[in-house]
Amino acid sequence: MIKQIVFAIALLITLGVFTFTTLRIISFFKLTKKAFPVRDFGKRFGVMMEVAFGQTKIFRKPILGFLHALVFWGFCVILIGSIEMVIDGLFGIEKSLKFLGVLYDIIMASGDVFALLIAISIAVFLFRRVFLHVKRFEGIEMKKISHLDANVALSIILLLMLSLLGMNSAYYGHTTLIGGAIEGVYPVSKYLSAIFSGLSAESVLVQYEIYWWMHILLIFAFANMLPYSKHFHVFMSVPNVFLSRLEPLGKLPNMDNVTREVKLMMDPNAAFAAPAADAPIERFGVKDCEDASWKNYFDSLACTECGRCTAVCPANITGKKLSPRKIIMDLRARMKEKGPKLIKNGKDFTDNKSLIRDYISEEELWACTTCNACAKECPININHPTLIVDMRRYLVMEEGSAPGELKAVFSNIENNGAPWQYSAEDRLLWAVDLEMNVK
Ligand code: SF4
Ligand code: SF4
Repeated sequence: MIKQIVFAIALLITLGVFTFTTLRIISFFKLTKKAFPVRDFGKRFGVMMEVAFGQTKIFRKPILGFLHALVFWGFCVILIGSIEMVIDGLFGIEKSLKFLGVLYDIIMASGDVFALLIAISIAVFLFRRVFLHVKRFEGIEMKKISHLDANVALSIILLLMLSLLGMNSAYYGHTTLIGGAIEGVYPVSKYLSAIFSGLSAESVLVQYEIYWWMHILLIFAFANMLPYSKHFHVFMSVPNVFLSRLEPLGKLPNMDNVTREVKLMMDPNAAFAAPAADAPIERFGVKDCEDASWKNYFDSLACTECGRCTAVCPANITGKKLSPRKIIMDLRARMKEKGPKLIKNGKDFTDNKSLIRDYISEEELWACTTCNACAKECPININHPTLIVDMRRYLVMEEGSAPGELKAVFSNIENNGAPWQYSAEDRLLWAVDLEMNVK
């Protein structure tokens, strides 16, 4: 009974803190602008199955991709075992899902095998991060805290898997010692349970309890740490893929407020459908975090900081300042800084800083070729160019700020209807002296 009470208190604290964090994040989403409408659920489901559950983009690097896929698939299976532990803890029972019969054996067996495979994969990831200094994990946006965050999260996952194996082994060892019936199949822990040989049933039971509590409390703590860590992608990546932009990558979204202005110019009748004259003036493009769309912000929360986008960015590869990963991380950091103040002081609050310039320089923004290599490579379908282009739109449409070459192009388009500096009448002068073979 005491175990049940302690467990219920731990669960309540976990759910309470998690609810608080979730509501806080939802309140940040309310500050953002609308994005595309979410429809085509069948197509979205297909993309989610292929990219998120199939891990297809991750497999472009076969060995590490396979290890990462093992971790992802393993988590999905082990999650069922964790749900069973919550039911057991609340109701003071053992192996509450055993009524599933053969299915239970399969779940337990795969969870046991995956625990070992995940532990090995995580050990490899940790070794790579700590000792091999992989270029993809470096960059100006990758501060010490980013590396620490990744290493702490990986270490906790490793502990989670070791405690799970310890728990399964102790369960197997204890049940064998008392001659009970073993519920489930444990292909790995069956062998690991040999470490308990020579101990009394009581002491193995104590060890089982220690591993059980260690495992469940680590899950509770990890679940509440995730929203403040890059490993928030554990929760966010699958929904982020489901909510992917389904249009072709190269197609830039129109700006609703510009479309409305153009319609007003072209069709006076549309004026009747226009917003009232005293409606708040909308900003063109993105200057700060609250101008970004909910999807941009979702992307920023889902980003794993893996650096695959930056590794394929032609601007970054050729030495420019731009790193698409930094753009996404900067949006998340800016919202973390300004979001609470906006909620407290209202949407007109300003701290005299902005995403553009204080976080992301114009030089970075104009270095982008909009090639979409980053969006194509991102394993969770984050779309960087739409955010970059929206920030450029702000610079051009609100501040008239653009590199000199572009300004010349803009004024040529305005004056000549073409990007070149020649008037429309002179357009065919280049052909005057050509000898035409006209028959
Ligand atoms: S779209 Fe821009 S940020 Fe993305 S890879 Fe191409 S140049 Fe880099
Ligand atoms: S945006 Fe995508 S590819 Fe880039 S670091 Fe984040 S998760 Fe990785």
